[in-house]
Amino acid sequence: MSHFDFSPEEAFALLQRLVAVRSYPGEEAAVQQVVATWLQEQGLIPEFQPTANGQPNVLARIENGPGPTLLLNGHVDTVLAVEGWNCDPWQGERRDDYFYGLGAGDMKAGVVVNMLVARELARHKSAWRGTLIFSSVTDEEAYSQGAHALLATGLQADACIVTEPSFDQAIIGAPGKVLIRARATGKAAHGFYPWQGINAAIELARFIAQVCDAVPPLHHPRIPSSQTVLSFHSGSAQYVITLPEQAEALITRQIVPGETAEQVVEKLQDFANSLQSPAHFTFAVEPPYYPSFEFAEPDHRFTRAFCTASQQVLGAAVPFGYVPGVSDANLFNGQAGIPCFYWGPRCGNFHQCQEWVDLATIAPCASVIAETARQFLQ
Ligand SMILES: [Zn+2]
Repeated sequence: MSHFDFSPEEAFALLQRLVAVRSYPGEEAAVQQVVATWLQEQGLIPEFQPTANGQPNVLARIENGPGPTLLLNGHVDTVLAVEGWNCDPWQGERRDDYFYGLGAGDMKAGVVVNMLVARELARHKSAWRGTLIFSSVTDEEAYSQGAHALLATGLQADACIVTEPSFDQAIIGAPGKVLIRARATGKAAHGFYPWQGINAAIELARFIAQVCDAVPPLHHPRIPSSQTVLSFHSGSAQYVITLPEQAEALITRQIVPGETAEQVVEKLQDFANSLQSPAHFTFAVEPPYYPSFEFAEPDHRFTRAFCTASQQVLGAAVPFGYVPGVSDANLFNGQAGIPCFYWGPRCGNFHQCQEWVDLATIAPCASVIAETARQFLQ
């Protein structure tokens, strides 16, 4: 039993409205307007917050006297639509309890949960005290400019739930990630006399062919991690018989607690030196950067509130787990130190065609989060 019940049909209607508005990173303003208008219609006071990607976050603070502060967070941007959708990705298609649509699960359903929870807590202020902050951010699928803007205001919160899709376990830890541009500089020469120059393509190719074995991701007992090479470029776009002087590769590496970008660069540089290449290697860290995060505190008031609430609503406490994926939870917890986990409606095929959300999980998810908020905000 929860103090809060939600209408699955209202949740679905709201989800359809959000999915219908295309919101690739860099074009979230239109869907944020839909979110803000709805909040206003429900009696909340939405604010637009500028972000570095030029598109606003939407915030709504519900102040209810002294007490703790809880942040509810979700992102409204989606990845780009890939080929192969069976329906219009923005129109979506409902089949029984499944709704197919771009961003339906990742994570407009989670944003709907937060909208509904914010309204219910605003309507039932006698049941809790403190502050609830609703936040709908931009750019999570690219550079997380929305979450960075939110944190740059000096936001103080005692706990945070990100409603990313993960219904069967709440995610309390994940690796961070660092993106590194590796550059090799050689020496140009006529291509028929390669011994007169230094071929940057060959030198960097030797490096990237071995780097994942030579500088493997660090092992962590709970947090998975990986590393790979994303791109490799060398030579001029036009065909000429010239030895390439420059070569570049992008390496993405997941980092575990205690590991920093500086340490990674140092290891890559050491491995490059060990190759005794005639080329010169440099390494630069590029955005986006995410620290790893872990919030594994079973006795924390926030953890206990969530366990009790999920037990009451779902009949069993939601277990905790770890994923290899990176999200804004990495910033809220790993950077800002806010106790945080993510949990939201059940979803599948995200970042692919036929992305779906299980509509039967949206209202129960809202009930659990509203009840968690009520118990934590005391
Ligand atoms: Zn997401």
